[in-house]
Amino acid sequence: QDSLAKVDPELWSAIQAENKRQEDHIELIASENYVSHAVMEAQGTQLTNKYAEGYPGKRYYGGCEHVDIAEQLAIERLKTLFGAEAANVQPNSGSQANQAVLMAFAKPGDTIMGMSLAEGGHLTHGMPLNMSGKWFNVVAYGLNDKEEIDYDQMEALAREHKPKILIAGASAYSLRIDFERFAKVAKEIGAIFWVDMAHYAGLIAAGFYPNPVPHADVVTSTTHKTLRGPRGGIILMKAEHEKALNSAIFPGLQGGPLMHVIAAKAVAFKEAASPEFRNYQEQVIANARVMARVLSAERGLRIISGRTESHLFLVDLRPKNITGKAAEVALGNAHITANKNSIPNDPEKPFLTSGIRIGSPAMTTRGFTEIEAEKVAHLIADVLDAPEDQAVIERVRGEVSELCARFPVYGK
Ligand code: PLP
Repeated sequence: QDSLAKVDPELWSAIQAENKRQEDHIELIASENYVSHAVMEAQGTQLTNKYAEGYPGKRYYGGCEHVDIAEQLAIERLKTLFGAEAANVQPNSGSQANQAVLMAFAKPGDTIMGMSLAEGGHLTHGMPLNMSGKWFNVVAYGLNDKEEIDYDQMEALAREHKPKILIAGASAYSLRIDFERFAKVAKEIGAIFWVDMAHYAGLIAAGFYPNPVPHADVVTSTTHKTLRGPRGGIILMKAEHEKALNSAIFPGLQGGPLMHVIAAKAVAFKEAASPEFRNYQEQVIANARVMARVLSAERGLRIISGRTESHLFLVDLRPKNITGKAAEVALGNAHITANKNSIPNDPEKPFLTSGIRIGSPAMTTRGFTEIEAEKVAHLIADVLDAPEDQAVIERVRGEVSELCARFPVYGK
């Protein structure tokens, strides 16, 4: 049969250009990563052809005996990885996993409580334009004056508003979360305790971040961030909630599961149980720490919450008088990819912001260690010191290009 390049050269060239961009740029978006060849191979298989509504052994279509094996492998590996009683590997995305929790445990109009988006939470935890914010009554907690989660405020609000669901988890919070403390107050008020560990899942699997699974009724995640699997979602849960959550995914929210993606998830979970993955996560944290230290101690920027205990951190750009949007553009011109991000009490609108978010998972996958992390931090600061200076941008782009060539992602 003809190759993709021959069948659709226009699309092929866009894919090649994206591949080149991924090789030639330093990727610092905290939610991105590079999957292994094995994960990509699984996702590009004939499993994409199969309809398999239902769950292994209980399908609404014939011919599912082989995809049943793939899904069962994914489920068992995932349960073992995090010590969960039950797991669902079918959510098509992190957002759909989260919608399933809302569907299973709350009705429109009920109160839910999560971390405010402006202070690090995720939009599916109650942002006004998201379904979670439109259909539910949202109470949000935030950070204290040390820019750490305000646990006292969270407890007081939980006792006052008695939400049906209490949510922990964030997209832009660099510190460890005290899941036990959340679990205690959830139990006291009779709430379902839900943790969205999307950002931290890989660190948790490797034992470098607290595991919420023993404390939570339900834990959702994406599979494509630190966990380094294909784009998708998962749900881990106590056995007593399995029926409600499984039926919220199918038939509640989805039809046929993406069996090729589930196969790729199974591969990623196997990889995540390996000693190499543990070493990788240790390096992810070390690299984030080095970048945060250099940017603050040596280059005059401020790190939100003062430090990082994970794969990411937020930078307050105000000492350099530059907005997040301008920083994102200037860094992009130098082939360093990061995203603008609001910081706590941000004086700028969400489209401009006063911060950028920096994450180490992708650069660590390509082989960067502390030496390169230190270099990357200096390159970032060089750009932020002179965002309009074309000579600086060009010099940095050259150094980025040299670093990327020494650490190819797929071209090894
Ligand atoms: N939950 C958290 C904490 C996230 O950071 C994200 C993605 O950024 C999601 C959920 C949503 O995942 P998806 O983009 O797969 O819908």
